[in-house]
Amino acid sequence: MRILDVREITQPIASPIRNAYIDFTKMTTSLVAVVTDVVRDGKPVVGYGFNSNGRYGQGGLIRERFRARILEADPTSLLDEARDNIDPAKVWATMMQNEKPGGHGERSVAVGTLDMAIWDAVAKIEGKPLFRLLAERHGREANPSVFVYAAGGYYYPGKDNSALQAEMRGYLDRGYSVVKMKIGGASIDEDRSRIEAVLKEIGGQAQLAVDANGRFDLETGIAYAKMLRDYPLFWYEEIGDPLDFALQAAMTEFYPGPMATGENLFSHQDARNLLRYGGMRPDRDWLQFDCALSYGLVEYLRTLDVLKQFGWSPSRCIPHGGHQMSLMIAAGLGLGGNESYPDLFQPYGGFPDGVRVEDGRVTMPEIPGIGFEGKSDLIKVMRELAA
Ligand SMILES: [Mg+2]
Repeated sequence: MRILDVREITQPIASPIRNAYIDFTKMTTSLVAVVTDVVRDGKPVVGYGFNSNGRYGQGGLIRERFRARILEADPTSLLDEARDNIDPAKVWATMMQNEKPGGHGERSVAVGTLDMAIWDAVAKIEGKPLFRLLAERHGREANPSVFVYAAGGYYYPGKDNSALQAEMRGYLDRGYSVVKMKIGGASIDEDRSRIEAVLKEIGGQAQLAVDANGRFDLETGIAYAKMLRDYPLFWYEEIGDPLDFALQAAMTEFYPGPMATGENLFSHQDARNLLRYGGMRPDRDWLQFDCALSYGLVEYLRTLDVLKQFGWSPSRCIPHGGHQMSLMIAAGLGLGGNESYPDLFQPYGGFPDGVRVEDGRVTMPEIPGIGFEGKSDLIKVMRELAA
């Protein structure tokens, strides 16, 4: 059993949207295929991955460093002999040879993308959905029903409050019970009026979360906290710079409601620093680490160990990114749910065809691997890369 090839292509996932920090008009993602010599149902097993959204494609790092390390390794050094499969932890250690600690930069995105493809292949080799494989290996009960919320409410050119209301109404019509909008890309008065417009639209039918995308300094974060605490929000997300743990900790004095952060922390060490120094409260706050951006599931398992040490349940995790990999982890390891972008980042984000949101939840179908084969537009571009 061996990995025959690792292929990468950088593709656009551009959208004409803007949050408080960046616009997405030139956003790209890396799509990868890990081709094995294992045959299932008469065809070679190929694992697929991509790097979530919000960071750019990682073709340079993948082709120059990580692909070569996998292909140059002794194939037997990458195997899980007991299970007659590839060992994701060994592949991970091979990719990370000769990498210094710290300074995670974007290599965590490159490794996370390849790690996704490795897990997809491993679950396909076992012939089961990844969430069932994870539940089994961790002695848990799988729960294919996963909470998802609709992330949107971006700033578009020319978008007024009625367009924002119509967007949110659309999410409710599609079965979501929590919706999210961006803040911090306009004045505080304008954002207040946007929030009130959305709350008026969704009424008692759903809850609203708001996301500042790390835009605020301490004073602005506090000013918004004082404004936002007038409303029954689901959470107040990523208030300041992702690595400013003192700012995050200070916010607890001004904002008693739930807060969420973590999508731009890319290692278990950074996650640990957030829990050590960020004042996050395990009874109400949410952690949004995205495995695809942060060294993959091998590393995410270390992050979950850190959470446990600090008294946090995996159910406080609702990852960023809206991809099926996090849905698998949620269903297999008991995360609290997953982000979803109903109209964005296609064909990468979203659910397998035919999966519908009902009462804010989706049910994962029984497809071997991560389930990409169940999403026809996505598997089409994946197969083109593997062919
Ligand atoms: Mg966010």
